[in-house]
Amino acid sequence: MSLSASAPATPEAIARYEPVIGLEVHVQLATATKIFCGCPTSFGAPPNTNVCPVCLGLPGALPVLSREAVELAVKAALALNCRVRPQSRFARKNYFYPDLPKGYQISMYDEPLAENGYVDIVLEGAPKRIGVTRVHMEDDAGKLLHEGFRDSEGCSYVDLNRSGTPLIEIVSEPDMRSSDEAYAYLTEVKQRLQFIGVSTCDMEKGHLRCDANVSVRLKGAERFGTRAEVKNLNSFRFLKLALDYEISRQVALIESGGQVEQETRLYNPDTGETAGMRGKEHAHDYRYFPEPDLLPLRIDEPWLDRLRAAMPELPARKRARFIEDYGLREYDAEVLTATRAGSEYFETVATVSGDPKSAAHWVMGDLMGLLKAEGKEISESPVSARHLGELVGLTAKGELSGKLAKEVFAKMSASGEAPGAIIEREGLKQISDSGALEKAVEDAIANSPKQVEQYKGGKTTVLNFLVGQVMRATRGQANVAVVTELFKRKLG
Ligand code: ADP
Ligand code: MG
Ligand code: ZN
Repeated sequence: MSLSASAPATPEAIARYEPVIGLEVHVQLATATKIFCGCPTSFGAPPNTNVCPVCLGLPGALPVLSREAVELAVKAALALNCRVRPQSRFARKNYFYPDLPKGYQISMYDEPLAENGYVDIVLEGAPKRIGVTRVHMEDDAGKLLHEGFRDSEGCSYVDLNRSGTPLIEIVSEPDMRSSDEAYAYLTEVKQRLQFIGVSTCDMEKGHLRCDANVSVRLKGAERFGTRAEVKNLNSFRFLKLALDYEISRQVALIESGGQVEQETRLYNPDTGETAGMRGKEHAHDYRYFPEPDLLPLRIDEPWLDRLRAAMPELPARKRARFIEDYGLREYDAEVLTATRAGSEYFETVATVSGDPKSAAHWVMGDLMGLLKAEGKEISESPVSARHLGELVGLTAKGELSGKLAKEVFAKMSASGEAPGAIIEREGLKQISDSGALEKAVEDAIANSPKQVEQYKGGKTTVLNFLVGQVMRATRGQANVAVVTELFKRKLG
C-alpha cells in the first residue's frame, strides 16, 4: 500500500492535532550600499553592473563591514525586543550554488548579533507572545535568470547585482500554533521594521522572504513532531495557504500510518501544494567557521543607548495611544497604524482639525477611497494632511456643511489647493448668519402655504421640506441647524 497522502486529512483528524510553527524571516536592509563593499543596492539596474571584486567573490578581495547596515540591524533587533550581544562574529556558511560566487555566504553562527526577543500578537482579542530566538546579519546571493532569453531552453544566466546586499535573518521560536498566528506574527514583524525605516519589507521585490517550519503533534502530546521546512512563500496569502496545506498533508500522512520526513519542501502557488525538494541540510553540512577576513563585531553600550533613545514609537504602542487619546475604535486604530506614513498623516489631520473622530472618518473614508481610486500611496496623496485637517476643522466648526465639504474635498484633490482658498474663490462658505437666512426662510414660508398649514396642524415632518427649500435657494450653503431654528421660531 502506498503511504503517499495525496488525500487531504478530514477536519476531524486535523482537529485532533496541534500544529507547531516557527518562521525564519529574511529582510533586506534599506542601505544605499552593499554590506561589504560600496556597490549600490538600487533595484532594476542592468544585470551585473552594480558589482566589484568584493561582491563578485574574486580572490584576494577583502570585505569591509558597512556601519549603516550594522545600525539598521541593531535597530531591528531592538524593535523585536532582543538583547544585542556586546560581541558578535561573522562566519562562513559554505555551499555551492551558481548564484554564490564566493562559494560561501558570510553569515553569523554561534555568536549572532542579537537574541532572546519577542513580539506580541493579538488574535480575536487574545494577546500572545511569540519568542524571537535570534537576529543575525548576512549577505545575499545573486539571482539566476531562467526565462526571457532566446536560449532559455538550454541556458540560465546569473545576475550578481544583488550579491552582497545586506540582510538580517530573524528566527522565531516554535511558538505559533496555527497559520493565523503565523500570519499575525509576520504582519507584526513587518510593520515594526517598516515603522523604524529598517526595510521596505516589500515582498514582491523580495525584500521580505519567509521560510516556515511546520510540524504537527497529537493534542496533549509533549514532544514536537518532525518538521518540514517550506520555502518559496512570497506573499502573506501563500504563507497561510502553504501552512494549511502542509498541516493537512502531515496529519493525513501520520493518520495513514506514515511518518513525516525532515526535509525542505517547496510551495507551488499554482497547485497550492508543497512538494519535497531535498533532505533537510544540517549545520555540519555547511562547515561553518569564523570569517577570517572580518574582525569580531563589538557594539558598545553608549552607541546602543543612543539608538534605543532614537527609536520611534512602535505600532502597538501607537495603536494603544490612538484608542486612549483620540477615543478611536480598535479597528480604526489598527487601520490608521498599518503604516507609519498613514499614522502620521492621521495625527496631523487630528491635530489641525481638533476633531480626531471626524479626522479618522475622513482619512479612512474619503481619503483612502481617493488614494485607492488613483492607485497612490499615502505619501503621494494629492491632498496634504494639513489641508485635510483644515477642511475637517471647518466642518467641525459648522462653517461648512457635510455636502459642501465633500465638494471642496473633490476640488482639493484635483488642484492640491488649501480648502480656504477654494471656499473663498467659489463663495462656498456656509451661511450661518441668521439675518442673511431670514429672507430665504420668509420666502419659503410665503411660497409653501399648504406645507405651512400642515405644519401648524401638527405634521412636523414637513419641516424637512421647508428646510429643503432654503437649501435649494442658497445652493446648499445655508446652515441647516440655523435654518431649522428660524422656521420653528417663525411658525411658532
Ligand atoms: P535549522 O538551522 O536547522 O533551520 P533552527 O534551530 O534554526 O534549525 O530552527 C529553524 C526554525 O524551526 C525555527 O524557527 C524554529 O522555531 C523552528 N522549529 C524547530 N523545531 C520545530 C518543530 N518541531 N516544529 C516546527 N518548527 C520547529
Ligand atoms: Mg535555519
Ligand atoms: Zn561590490
